[in-house]
Order: sequence, then C-alpha cells, then structure tokens
Amino acid sequence: MKTSATKPAASRPSRASRSRGPSARELIFGDLWEFDPAPETADPHIRSSYGLFINDKFSPARKGGIFPSISPGNEKKLTDLALADAADVDAAYSAASKAYEKVWSKLPGNERGKFLYRIARLLQDRAREFAVAESLDGGKPIKESRDFDVPTAAAHFFYHAGWADKLDHLAPGRQVAPYGIVGQVIPWNFPLLMLAWKIAPALAAGNCIVIKPAETTSITALKLCEVFQEAGLPPGVVNVVTGAGETGAAVMSHPLASKVAFTGSTEVGKAIMRSLAGTGKKMTMELGGKAANIVFEDAPLGQAVEGIINGIFFNQGHVCCAGSRLLVQESIADDMLTRLKLRMQSLRVGDPLDKNTDIGAINSKEQLTRISELVKSGVAEGAELYQTPCRLPSKGFYFPPSIFSKVTQSHRIAREEIFGPVLSILTFRTPEEAIEKANNTAYGLSAGVWTDKGSRILKMASQLKAGVVWANTYNKFDPSSPFGGYKESGFGREGGRQGLLDYCKLL
Ligand code: NDP
Repeated sequence: MKTSATKPAASRPSRASRSRGPSARELIFGDLWEFDPAPETADPHIRSSYGLFINDKFSPARKGGIFPSISPGNEKKLTDLALADAADVDAAYSAASKAYEKVWSKLPGNERGKFLYRIARLLQDRAREFAVAESLDGGKPIKESRDFDVPTAAAHFFYHAGWADKLDHLAPGRQVAPYGIVGQVIPWNFPLLMLAWKIAPALAAGNCIVIKPAETTSITALKLCEVFQEAGLPPGVVNVVTGAGETGAAVMSHPLASKVAFTGSTEVGKAIMRSLAGTGKKMTMELGGKAANIVFEDAPLGQAVEGIINGIFFNQGHVCCAGSRLLVQESIADDMLTRLKLRMQSLRVGDPLDKNTDIGAINSKEQLTRISELVKSGVAEGAELYQTPCRLPSKGFYFPPSIFSKVTQSHRIAREEIFGPVLSILTFRTPEEAIEKANNTAYGLSAGVWTDKGSRILKMASQLKAGVVWANTYNKFDPSSPFGGYKESGFGREGGRQGLLDYCKLL
C-alpha cells in the first residue's frame, strides 16, 4: 500500500538543519518515494477447520459448536474453530489428570526436558510457516512475528528445557513439586509467545495443562499442537480448548486445576479472582498496564526517539507493557515532538504480510472501535492530536499512528489503557515530578528511563512502581528475565527462575 506524505520528498538535509524544527525537510516516503510491495509468500498451512486438542487428538466440540477465525488484515475467513463448552473443558481436564497420574509425574526431569528441546527445535524448523500464520491471524507485521514472536517463543522452550532437570536448584534449601494440573488463559496480542510463556515453565516444572487461547487468535496454538504430536509429547499432557469468555471461565474454575495462570485485561482478571476466592487455587495474574517512558534532557535523543517509537508502535501498541505515556522533560519537549513527528512519517502502515510494514492491522473490529473511542475522548478533553496522513487499506482493521501532546493527568488517554498505536505525551520539570506522575496510575507493569546518568537510572528504577524498568532501551525480553506487575497489573512472574517457581509448590 502507498502512504501519502505531508511534504514533498527532498534530499536528506544536514543534521543541523534537521534539528531546527518542523520546517526541516526530510526524506519521507509517500507519493514520490515508495517501496515496492514485498509480500511474504510462505504457506502458513492453516487447515480449513480445527477441533479441540484433547488427549493428543483434534476432535469436534461435543455439541458441534464452531466459530470462524478471520484475518484482521483483510477480513477474510481463515478457518473454523471448535467452540468448547464446560463438558469439553471437563474432558480436557480428565485427559490432563490421567496424563499426570500415569505418565508425566513419573518422568524424570531430564526426560521432560527432552520433550521441551524437541518442541523448540521443531518450532524453529517451522518458524517461517508459524510467522505467516501468526501475522495472518493476529494482524502483526510479518517482520515482528518472524524476528520476535516465533524466535522468542522457541527461546522460552529452550530455556525451560534446561531447567527441567535442575529443579533442585530452583529454591536453594527447599524441595519443589509440581501443582499437578494447571489451567491457563491467554490474550490475543502475542498468541504464540504467550502460549510459550505459559506452557514451557509449567511443563518443565512437571505439570499437565489445559489452556485456552484468545477467540480471535487461536491458530498458532492449534498449530503448536501439531508440533506436540510430532515431538511425541504423551497424550493429555497439553490440551488446548478454543472458545470465548465462557470457555475461559470454565478453564479457570475447574476443580482439577490446582493452579491457574491468566493473562488479559484487569477487568477479567479481577472477575476471575472474585470467582476463585476461597477455592485455594494458586494464581498468577498478568494484567494491563499504562507505562511511563521517561526522557530526561540529557538523554541520547536520537536513541530515545527510536525507543519511544518502538515502545508505543510495536505490535500496533497491543502490548501490555507499551510505553503509552511519554513523560518528557519540559526543556526538550518541543524538540522531542518535532523529532517524533518526523520519525512517525516514515512508519509504514498496511498489509501485515508485507515485509516493509511497520504497523499492521488492529486485531479486531471491537479493538478498533475502542481505540477510536478513546482517541475521540482525547480530542474532546483538549489534548492535541497528530496522526500521520497515511492511506489505510480499504479492507481490514487499521488505525494510523497517533500522538497526543498537551495531555494532562486527568485525561482518559493518560489513565486508561488504549492498547493501540496511540501515544500520550506529558511533561515534567524535575525527577521528583517525573516519579510522581509515572506512579500516578492504577497500573504498575513497566517503565522506561532515558538519561545519560547511571546514578539517575538507579534512583528512578528504585522509585518507579513497575515490575520492569528499562533504561535507555525499551521492550527488551529474554526468557531468563522475570516479567510481571504491581498493583492492578497483577501478581506473579513469568520467565526466569521466579516465573518457574510460580509453577512449583515449595515443600
Ligand atoms: P481479556 O481479558 O478480555 O481476554 C483475555 C483472555 O481471557 C481471552 O482468552 C478471553 O477470551 C478470556 N476471557 C474473557 N472473559 C473471561 C472470563 N470471564 N473468564 C476467563 N477467561 C476469560 O483481554 P484481551 O484479550 O482483550 O487482551 C487485552 C488485555 O490483556 C489488555 O488489557 C492487556 O493489557 C492485557 N495483557 C496483559 C499482559 C501482561 O502480561 N500483563 C499481556 C498481554 C495482554 P476471548 O478471547 O474469547 O474473549
């Protein structure tokens, strides 16, 4: 697709002229300059329909319910999925329970580790196919699913494969044991990666699983079941049930689940916690966020611009730890706004399968409506909106990269999670004011600090109420680093030793 430029293309100006402000002319893509389309053509091998994956077999839902899965990039149907009800979920738990009693709990850690290694390698073998399926199903740009989602998912299986026979070293001085059966529910923004975050540590710790992917993005979960079959994972060790919220509720509340792990919205997380109160189930909740990305005047500004752009526009902003509030020191606020606008103009919005695309499709029509509604509220409440004038595809769900300046703490766009490509910019004068504003939110998942001073980074990191604080970078993930929140962003950790411990009982 072609994007239109705000200004005519010109030769690249000198560094000095670029820093002069909005009048500086930039080489921007548009009607005069354009990439040729570079569509990814690998076959994603998506079946015309998928059953529920229970006891190593794909089988239809007992009542025969199905629902379509469509591609948000072009609104075409990709496949039909089975709609699991409470009886199907019960069958999945029975399979998990049998697998745990008869097979999985009897395997030594090094044998469990071998399965995890196999899964990781098979996923690497089929990486391209998985990347295409993920972009088609979820709308994210192929370069992200290819270079981030799929390799990071494989890395999670490799990392936890290494832990499976070393659980004696997980909690020094203590013995650990699996919970037995765990129930898991995941959202639509990183379908395969969230699956790996949930499945790999649970299996390494010795548990069996019933998991529900999100309604709009179940395809890579079902494709991963083919990998489980290929890896020879014993029947019933992992069971995948597809469906909507009621299916998720049945997974969370099943009496056989000793531990439940949920990733999704704070609202649904709270409802699950209320419904499970008093059941004695161990819980992990990875919920929403409204991160502050804080830029001081002494920061490397060019690098910070890249970090801010990545922080908010990565995966269309469908990222729980997105740097959705930019707190910029007042002395550099105008310069930063100019730089951001220029950088945004070179972002390419469009077909998720085009290798040139930076910002793909919004995951669903409902999410597009929510983003549009919150952006309207920002304008109505007096913030100043800038959107890149790109041409959006006529079919599919798309939203232009957007930034709001003149945002105040009371605006909805500064308080509510937009979960889209929309940045809210606020200013501060002193580090104390930055901390106060950054922490003035119900959430506490992540934050970013950009400054030249190491001592300031350490001080800020110790005062920011966020589970993850990145310094002079943003959105960096590694299987060995624990990730999780404070306050309404949830509790428990995923990744690293701490994440693995959340799948173990301490004896
Ligand atoms: P939801 O909370 O609506 O859904 C998450 C998952 O829960 C989906 O699989 C959903 O099913 C299922 N679900 C819905 N209702 C229930 C219920 N009553 N009981 C059990 N399961 C239920 O969130 P979204 O899918 O809309 O995801 C976006 C949200 O997730 C954002 O707020 C984001 O911040 C958060 N998130 C947090 C992350 C973190 O690590 N902290 C990571 C990723 C996202 P269905 O799809 O059928 O509706």
